[in-house]
Amino acid sequence: MEMMRFTRPRTARMMVSFMSNLIAAGTMAVGSVNAAPPATADFGPSNPFYSPSALPFEAPPFDRIKDEDYQPAIEAGMAQQQVEIQAIADNPAAPTFDNTIVAMEKTGLLVDRVMAAFNGVTGANTNPTLQNVETVEAPKLAAHQDFIYLNTKLFARVAAIYKQRATLKLDAESLRLVEYTYDQFVHAGANLSEADKTKLKKLNEEISSLSNAFNNKLLAATKDGAYVTTDKGALAGLSESRIAAAAQAAKDRKVEGFVIPLQNTTQQPDLVSLSNRAARQAIFEHSWNRAEFGDANDTRDTIAQLAHLRAQKAKLLGFPSFAAWKLEDQMAKTPEAALKFMDAIVPAATAKAAREAGDIQAVVDAQKGGFRVQAYDWNFYAEQVRKTRYNIDDAQVKPYFELDSVLQNGVFYAATQLYGITFKERHDIPVYQPDVRVFEVFDADGKHLALFYCDYFKRDNKNGGAWMSEFVGQSRLRGTSPVVYNVANLPKPAAGEPALITFTDVVTMFHEFGHALHGMFSNAEYPTLAGTATARDFVEFPSQFNEHWATYPAIFAHYAKHYKTGEPMPEDLAARIGKAQAFNKGYGMTEILAAAELDMQWHFLSPTAPLQKPDEFEQQALEKTHLNVSYVPPRYRSTYFSHIWQSGYSAGYYAYIWTQMLADDAYQWFDEHGQLTRANGDRFRQMVLSRGNTEDLAKMYENWRGAPPNTKAMLKHRGLEESGPDK
Ligand SMILES: [Zn+2]
Repeated sequence: MEMMRFTRPRTARMMVSFMSNLIAAGTMAVGSVNAAPPATADFGPSNPFYSPSALPFEAPPFDRIKDEDYQPAIEAGMAQQQVEIQAIADNPAAPTFDNTIVAMEKTGLLVDRVMAAFNGVTGANTNPTLQNVETVEAPKLAAHQDFIYLNTKLFARVAAIYKQRATLKLDAESLRLVEYTYDQFVHAGANLSEADKTKLKKLNEEISSLSNAFNNKLLAATKDGAYVTTDKGALAGLSESRIAAAAQAAKDRKVEGFVIPLQNTTQQPDLVSLSNRAARQAIFEHSWNRAEFGDANDTRDTIAQLAHLRAQKAKLLGFPSFAAWKLEDQMAKTPEAALKFMDAIVPAATAKAAREAGDIQAVVDAQKGGFRVQAYDWNFYAEQVRKTRYNIDDAQVKPYFELDSVLQNGVFYAATQLYGITFKERHDIPVYQPDVRVFEVFDADGKHLALFYCDYFKRDNKNGGAWMSEFVGQSRLRGTSPVVYNVANLPKPAAGEPALITFTDVVTMFHEFGHALHGMFSNAEYPTLAGTATARDFVEFPSQFNEHWATYPAIFAHYAKHYKTGEPMPEDLAARIGKAQAFNKGYGMTEILAAAELDMQWHFLSPTAPLQKPDEFEQQALEKTHLNVSYVPPRYRSTYFSHIWQSGYSAGYYAYIWTQMLADDAYQWFDEHGQLTRANGDRFRQMVLSRGNTEDLAKMYENWRGAPPNTKAMLKHRGLEESGPDK
């Protein structure tokens, strides 16, 4: 079972990364009331982004938005926010919390609403027109960010307020906003000389362009990397519906035979079932080499340059490495702390993986395979070990995991039991693609809480993985309630077939919905501190915590029902699925650690290091960290590791393991306090899920938990204890 999911919380603000908050609020320029954006030749009232959406809860008007509406709105939005920001910087009045910090929170509503919709569609439903807009706008958005954070006059005001903060009698959230805003300015280079600021701006634009180039190359490489065959025998072992889907994928691409598209991870889902070893090897190699063919989609030069430029940026900002700069505002604080945390888990993880490899080799040998297990064999034989040991297989369990039942009777039901919230599907809210569904979410008292969109099926024009983000973020200052969405890449069934998913997919849905809850429960004054706008090594905590409810017996029994008969899953099968959760966890933890160490090693590079050769660098990095395990490849290779090159997880992938620690430790608290109760859910919501980044995250956690987190529950839950259960 996968433990990690790709998330892009607050994608709307991700393109402008740490200035996120500043493009979050308010059409009001300082001193004016409801200033409309300036109409230009190509941007006026006919553009659907010109005014706030008139739809319920400001949902994006996807029925009116055309591809060509985005670019002029993005440009006008940036221009408008620059006017607003400059007015704050030039204000002749002495700086105050309201006329500077709060005023900044109110700027940029236009750019925020267009980027929220734009990031939503470019992530989940892109096309060449939109990709071109991304390419053109990415460096401009980076420059826009610099306009704010490297604005000397503005920073002088922020710094003045920061110095007086103790005397301002601010409430706790406002004080946090002052400190956070100041830190973000310093982090972005506000203290640099003018000459160095110019250098930094240039570096930021180059980095942003390269990231965007990486994304476009990888999307094309992943699409091109699909395995194509006209030999049905190569697909032996796949279910009839998977073969039908592969035939359909071939038709969609207008090629003969069968097409198996690549997922963004190293391992590919069909390798579990394919009995043809040559086909497994071929698909694996398509995945492993996808971005290394020396063609236009080869990402090696791009990532080498990115790592180099990021190290230069760190040097300019006074840090020994990009990782040191990046972790400054995280829960872990330093790369050394993150590396120490990971290094301590490596021996237990690789030892467990070695025991698992032994089990797998025994199956290969018993079948007189005559080979040593390779990475592309792992999932196929692991599945057999799992079947033998737990007597379950996906074909047997999938009929009990029909997507809509999992969603409504599982994911939603768990949230109702814990937090009292309820859901009603709405068909009047426009969507960007017909597979997308929209639900209104009501609080326990029946009042509106949020809108929730879900877009679960894989498409060729969708980024890989699964994620959550927002079309509208919550803020009391703005008077907005959350409009959040979940995206995944679950296999779309052939027409007329039910969507039967694996238990891994079930857990993905719970995971992403955990992010959604973090967004929907947000109760912050300021958009900067709201919802999922927390540190990376905290943001995966609510999502991984929510995964735990997928196996909670009362929840599981409620959604795991046969799609044809409505019969509950037989108790012994359900019990075995529960027990199987510790299975293959050595592999799972090792592949994540390998990816996380690759990430950290790339971003630990000294600014004086030469341009790296990615293949050699990767090999050395894995050897150095004792993670060069032939049968456990990294979950992502450097060349297709979009988290770290494109989507904000640079020097941050360790956060997935760090937050596992938090999630398992937190679930332990529920275990100790009567498990699933409304009282426990409400307390967690009140003290953690609704708090966003409004207080120090370590302190927030400790207040709720009564102690700092530790790895005990994680190692136990993941079967990684020295004498852990291997059963
Ligand atoms: Zn996530």
